[in-house]
Amino acid sequence: MTVRRPARQPLSTFPLSPRGEGRGEGAAPLVTDVLVVGGGLAGAMAALAARSRSARVVLARRAPGATALSSGAIGAAPDTWCAPAEPLASRLDTLTAARRLAASRPEHPYAALGPGLDALEEALAFAAAELADLLAPPSGRPLFLSTPYGAVVTAALAQRTMVAADLAAVRGTLAVVGFRGHLGFDARLVAGALAPWEARGGPRTTAVELDLFMRGDLALARPHELARALEAPGAAEEAGRLLGRALPAGAAAAVFPPVLGRAPAARVMERIAGAAGLPVAETLSDVPSVPGLRLQAALEARLLAAGVELVSGEVAVERGGRPGDEVRAGGREVRARSWVLASGRFVGGGIVRRGALVEPLLGLPVQATEAGAPDGELASRPAASLTVRARRAAQPLLAAGVRIDRQLRPLDASGAPLHPRLFAAGAVIGGHEVAADGTGLGVGVLTGYLAGSAAAGAPG
Ligand SMILES: Cc1cc2nc3c(=O)[nH]c(=O)nc-3n(C[C@H](O)[C@H](O)[C@H](O)COP(=O)(O)OP(=O)(O)OC[C@H]3O[C@@H](n4cnc5c(N)ncnc54)[C@H](O)[C@@H]3O)c2cc1C
Repeated sequence: MTVRRPARQPLSTFPLSPRGEGRGEGAAPLVTDVLVVGGGLAGAMAALAARSRSARVVLARRAPGATALSSGAIGAAPDTWCAPAEPLASRLDTLTAARRLAASRPEHPYAALGPGLDALEEALAFAAAELADLLAPPSGRPLFLSTPYGAVVTAALAQRTMVAADLAAVRGTLAVVGFRGHLGFDARLVAGALAPWEARGGPRTTAVELDLFMRGDLALARPHELARALEAPGAAEEAGRLLGRALPAGAAAAVFPPVLGRAPAARVMERIAGAAGLPVAETLSDVPSVPGLRLQAALEARLLAAGVELVSGEVAVERGGRPGDEVRAGGREVRARSWVLASGRFVGGGIVRRGALVEPLLGLPVQATEAGAPDGELASRPAASLTVRARRAAQPLLAAGVRIDRQLRPLDASGAPLHPRLFAAGAVIGGHEVAADGTGLGVGVLTGYLAGSAAAGAPG
């Protein structure tokens, strides 16, 4: 079969927000309970948690951040203490692993939260319920999911399109599906890389190639173009029929490249599975990430549905400005009793380098941590001196961010909370390497949930 190539479409296919935006220049100031700065997972969780406590919430964001680049699955605390050959079934559950991580890495946000870490499972369940169309409910144990290169990543939550390929759950052979002639995904490489996991309780794997995207230009089609092509009427069904014919004996599930539709409503996974007659999933994604964009789009939709006032544009705070003051957000003036800073790190722009590493909105001190020892001074060292040669070693630069107390309040240079109604959430908080230590989006979920709840309830 030849699937038609869709017309070129920019990534802005995933609009920041079609409606409900702030009303622009000259309008009366928005007066609200909570202002959230940042529209990634941390900001969205904060806004939704505050809304669930009946607070009025304005969320301002100038662009998608790291959340839209993520694989789409939520890492919270992988078991990094297990021996490599240890069976998947005996790996630590997420909360136990998070507690162990907090005990061994005092600079990590999980450690800074103290007893707040106990809310991790509650926060993950809240995220899954808020994004129920997108995320599968927590299963009570970690998920073991393949990247598009066959590396295995531990996730606490994953999109519904991913869980059928959880290595700990597939009973039988996992068919790794590629598109013949497409250069972006090598099914044999992935199946081969996953093979050693059989000895740890994972499935047997076999590569299967489908004659789906065979025309010359489709061999280079970008992930979101493939995702859109599969959404077209009949395309997913045809993929399922081809898969059904190519399946190896004993196949229990099939895992595709991470292009199973841009929107859950297109039901690409369900349509392929129905035609093939077995559960179907997609791998985690590299950048650019269709599941990451799907996650970002789902957050936007949920924020609107929950009654959060969305403002597109940058938040600018006058020097010395604090919660309760009027601030500029996009084209609006906004006055909020509490603020949640969820501005991300280097991708989102919550931490930038201007000579030294700085937090540009409020001028909060930035801490970089070396070998577990917090030291604000590191932030003013040359960036090159904050990386080490071995990529797998801890990279101080990548863990730079603001410090918080147990109530999620950012600390000033003296180590005291800057303001009783200023909270921080997500990657702007330092002490963890968001893209590498397996806790990135999990920190966003937990700190967003706690910061939003605290902001909604903050007296004053
Ligand atoms: C390539 C990559 C892949 C990753 N993959 C994974 C993964 O698979 N699993 C995982 O768990 N984690 C992953 N991570 C980490 C994870 O994506 C981040 O930790 C997480 O997305 C951070 O969320 P956040 O909401 O704190 O920040 P972001 O998602 O970066 O959002 C920051 C927001 O703040 C806004 N903002 C900043 N300043 C202002 C301002 N002044 N005014 C208005 N808006 C502002 C930005 O526009 C943006 O909307 C990955 C990270 C990267 C970079």
